[in-house]
Amino acid sequence: MIAVVTQNTDGLHQDAGSRRVIELHGSGRTVQCIECGSRETRAEVQARLEVEMPPRCKMCGGVFLKPTVVLFGEAMPIPAVEEAFALAKAADVMLVVGSSLVVYPAAHIPSAAVDHGATLIVVNAEPTPLDRIAEVVIRGSAGEVLPELATLTSAV
Ligand SMILES: [Zn+2]
Repeated sequence: MIAVVTQNTDGLHQDAGSRRVIELHGSGRTVQCIECGSRETRAEVQARLEVEMPPRCKMCGGVFLKPTVVLFGEAMPIPAVEEAFALAKAADVMLVVGSSLVVYPAAHIPSAAVDHGATLIVVNAEPTPLDRIAEVVIRGSAGEVLPELATLTSAV
């Protein structure tokens, strides 16, 4: 099983072809009504801006719509966090890319993987607190290191 656990909210992992993506900080591509909780795609709301200002919730008519991203001070979505930990505990290998690993609970996820027998690989420009439990640490930017890793692994 291959999965991506991300703190990004831009949906680019899905655009790149990743099929199982756990978004710890939600998604900027969906919009939720604060009043009734119903969701729709941001594109749908965006399209209504042409004819309706402010755009209203299709279910209740409310005007308090927000992207389903986790804003500062909001809690992370519990199902996403639980799924991330379950995947970590079942993982053989965890590759952590471009994270300082200082924001919790996300930073606990690689530790959970290692505690359950996974090999941890860290790719980050700066040292992280989990480098000491990683099998491999690669210093560099994700944009440079990952294409090189992909080339090397496809050559094997
Ligand atoms: Zn609503």
